[in-house]
Amino acid sequence: MSCIRGTYVKLTTMFLIKDDFWQIKKTKERGYGVFARKEIKAGTIIGDYLGKVIKTAQYDLDRDKKGLFLMYFTDQASIYPNLKKPGIHLLNHSCTPNCWIYTYYLHTLFFALRKIIPGEELTISYLLSPKDESCNPCTHTCKCSSKFCTGTMHLSRDKYERWQKFQNNQKKKTKKPKAVFGKNLPKLASYPKIIPNNPIYAQISNN
Ligand SMILES: [Zn+2]
Repeated sequence: MSCIRGTYVKLTTMFLIKDDFWQIKKTKERGYGVFARKEIKAGTIIGDYLGKVIKTAQYDLDRDKKGLFLMYFTDQASIYPNLKKPGIHLLNHSCTPNCWIYTYYLHTLFFALRKIIPGEELTISYLLSPKDESCNPCTHTCKCSSKFCTGTMHLSRDKYERWQKFQNNQKKKTKKPKAVFGKNLPKLASYPKIIPNNPIYAQISNN
């Protein structure tokens, strides 16, 4: 992130809401977070998860133990954001998030699940696969402080499978864009105006 005297410079970013709708602030326990400065209507697209298209197999997970910035793109490719710029990768995980993921031409869009009021932190579920031996010691403890916090960012097997099934159907609705390894994923020419809610989002999260 471009950080000048503690404030972030809003360069071209992944955000698709206007600059005066959001700000980056430090949270108590979870590093930086994204906060609403104005009311954001339900269904509003917050941003597109953009970054460099990299080969997932070649990504050095050991150097980035949490690996939380790596976004799935295709079975071979992932998106890695520019960590020097503010972006939607800074949304923290919550067990009762107010934003959700919508896959569109394989781009991962974040949208408002409900109305978000000024001052509220924008949160998303990281939808991590169920905890297994590969995640040991697990660094994905959740500190979202929601009433329904599960204490972990990992989903249960049941929820994870339901989400994968839904996602796979969702992906079939739009065509795959061409991914060029090593290049930045460009913004789409257009985005949906509003993302409709779906009961599955509440079923997967603890909303
Ligand atoms: Zn939690």
